Amino acid sequence: MSTPLELSGWRHLYSGKVRDLYAPEDPADKRLLVVASDRVSAFDFALEPPIPHKGALLTGLSRWWFDRLAEGADPIANHLVDGDVPAEVADRAMLARSLEMLPIECVVRGYLTGSGWLEYQQSGTVCGIPLPDGLENGDRLPEPLFTPAYKAPMGEHDENITFERTTEIVGAERAAELRDLSLAIYRRAAAVAEERGLILADTKFEFGVDADGVLRLADEVLTSDSSRYWDAESWRTGSTPSERMASFDKQIVRDWLSAHWDKQGTPPVLPEDVVTETAARYAELLGRLTA
Ligand code: ATP
Ligand code: MG
Repeated sequence: MSTPLELSGWRHLYSGKVRDLYAPEDPADKRLLVVASDRVSAFDFALEPPIPHKGALLTGLSRWWFDRLAEGADPIANHLVDGDVPAEVADRAMLARSLEMLPIECVVRGYLTGSGWLEYQQSGTVCGIPLPDGLENGDRLPEPLFTPAYKAPMGEHDENITFERTTEIVGAERAAELRDLSLAIYRRAAAVAEERGLILADTKFEFGVDADGVLRLADEVLTSDSSRYWDAESWRTGSTPSERMASFDKQIVRDWLSAHWDKQGTPPVLPEDVVTETAARYAELLGRLTA
């Protein structure tokens, strides 16, 4: 992994697969600088090479969604705070409150695909939730499902868990709050996407709690890294799974990796055309959503 940037006034805290976190040099200042890099990961593995401009596209999308979700009758509290970010990372950094993160990836699925489709073929369930017979890859689910995952510590892989297990980790009340809020945000975002000819097939949220005990939406939100977006027209008219799920996310990366790698050891380097195509899809999504 590349060495994190030196940013004057900021101290590097941590680097995840995609983001680098910095704290102010002044310990009394409880803000956090979240810098999205161009790094790409799939199946929880960090990959090479980076995708040009991805950090800026992710940050632009997250900001746009945080703002949309903070509007209206049911504003969703988020982790953003006002203030200046260092000029050298201005297009890919967010200033946030440093939160106590909950170790749950709040996944919502409106459509059947990915790991949900694999499980369904074996057992007729998704994360243990029974589904009707006869569903195909890419089909819309009877209703959106909350399918949480346990956010594994660095170096380990996230693990799908039941709602029951979620209640053991964060308590029954918090688990219900996470589920209800995640489903509500998914429905709101899916409606916005639909107006723009896009299907929000699934997504993942992360929440944290601030110093006053307020639950806030954190990390990145509704980006092409954390979500699957499909073209609604292709989904309606397509006759093969890949036509139906013409996507604006890193499915291209996942598909290429699945075809060229058995997920053991170091992943292969992504070829130039996969990198270029992924960059183009990310840019197109931002354009279509925010135009
Ligand atoms: P890992 O934590 O396993 O490295 P990751 O690869 O998904 O996960 P990134 O998304 O690259 O990590 O890094 C972002 C990290 O910052 C995540 O661990 C996320 O939970 C954390 N994070 C995001 N927003 C906040 C916040 N407001 N306060 C504290 N931590 C945050
Ligand atoms: Mg992450």
